[in-house]
Amino acid sequence: MKERIAEIICVGTELLMGETVNTNATEIARELSRLGIPLYHSVVVGDNPARLKAALKSAYERAEIVLLTGGLGPTYDDLTMETVADFFGRKLVLHEESLAAIRQYFEKAGRMMAPSNEKQALLPEGGIVLPNPNGTAPGCILEDGERVAVVLPGPPREMRPMLRDQVAPYLGRGNGVIRSHELHFYGIGESELEYKLGDLMKNALNPTVAPYAKPGDVMLRVTASAGTAEEAERQMAPVMNKLRDKLKDYYYATDLPDLQTAVVRALHEKGLTAATAESCTGGLVAELLTEVPGASGVFGCGMVAYQNEIKEQLLGVPGELLKAYGAVSAETAARMAEAIREKSGADIGVGVTGNAGPAASEGKPVGLVYVAVSSSAYTHVSRLNIRRQDEDSRALIRRLAALKALNLILRAAQAAPPTEH
Ligand code: AMP
Ligand code: MG
Repeated sequence: MKERIAEIICVGTELLMGETVNTNATEIARELSRLGIPLYHSVVVGDNPARLKAALKSAYERAEIVLLTGGLGPTYDDLTMETVADFFGRKLVLHEESLAAIRQYFEKAGRMMAPSNEKQALLPEGGIVLPNPNGTAPGCILEDGERVAVVLPGPPREMRPMLRDQVAPYLGRGNGVIRSHELHFYGIGESELEYKLGDLMKNALNPTVAPYAKPGDVMLRVTASAGTAEEAERQMAPVMNKLRDKLKDYYYATDLPDLQTAVVRALHEKGLTAATAESCTGGLVAELLTEVPGASGVFGCGMVAYQNEIKEQLLGVPGELLKAYGAVSAETAARMAEAIREKSGADIGVGVTGNAGPAASEGKPVGLVYVAVSSSAYTHVSRLNIRRQDEDSRALIRRLAALKALNLILRAAQAAPPTEH
């Protein structure tokens, strides 16, 4: 069977104005990828019939399947169905069943049906009607020789089930599959990673290897397309092993949503607990850890020791040490990590102290942060020097410091011997 290519057209002036986030494009793209249908272009166009027609014309120069969302509302500016029908030279006809369903929808909701809603039951002649159990506008599939148009409503809660339950089974006949895995790395920039991988990344066609970076996290997505899921997995396995091996100092997890999930999982695996003493991150490390379901089994306590008096009196950092080295110092961070570990009885303690700005203090520049970890095996301190200075720098410094702390907990947990239970 000839491989069919898809294209997405999202219709709505609000999308172009930046008022609405285009989540439909993401969800349709994901579904196409799951179905193994290639997608090379995704377009946004306003509520304008002429421009929509132009978008349809160029889409069918590149693709056979065009999926449209938006513009199925009852008002004068919702013109997608008319425009698609017109593009294919089809008449709109009243679809009695859809009209009855729209009437029923309003009755159930106890609302008056406006005459304009009748318009939503006007569908292209010869189309396959997609009933909409979650709203008023039905969708439609139009077949025209090789070309297929799939017209879906704009509201995501109406679009999503229609796509999943009606469109995916329609499109999914007889295609291959696309599978992917995500490898997560920490402590390496995207460009450094690209440099280290070189040709391994650039020349990879199947599986492909693509980097995605967020502050404190770099992800490589490995994607294979094959006849079956098993075949795709077989193609990806050696590539993933090579990547993990080449970047073993930075690698931390495969297919996990984030670093905190990796940390909680590693602590569970090793039967360990952690506790935190935070100054400049104000509890962010504890917040991230407790986002993860199951954190209560591995996270004992977090203390926000912001002022020096608290560091001294409640946490137990000696006053002389604070005086001699300052609150923002490797010595203080180390002592904070050790103290919280001792006080809470946790296996791993973390201490974070730094200057998140806006001004230098104790002669310590903004962006200087010490993050310490203490376990039965060792105490280690990392020094961060985050030099970015803009309006978001305070948030960024706190976030990077918290991620560093999570990373140190992860390393400490991974270094610990396995427990027997
Ligand atoms: P419409 O079908 O154009 O009347 O759109 C109805 C509602 O669906 C709008 O108010 C938007 O909030 C939402 N919507 C339309 N298109 C999208 C899209 N591509 N992604 C997310 N929401 C959308
Ligand atoms: Mg609209």
